[in-house]
Amino acid sequence: MTKPVPPVGTKRICSACAAKFYDLDKRPVVCPKCAAEQTGSTAIVS
Ligand SMILES: [Zn+2]
Repeated sequence: MTKPVPPVGTKRICSACAAKFYDLDKRPVVCPKCAAEQTGSTAIVS
């Protein structure tokens, strides 16, 4: 049993409210919590 992995894009931390979210590979990246547009490098490398 193999479930398809949904595309989640890059994990990020909002530069405005510090919420963690996935950008879903959309551009521009907008925080789902506060709607702040993410500029610069907010990607989490783990
Ligand atoms: Zn935010």
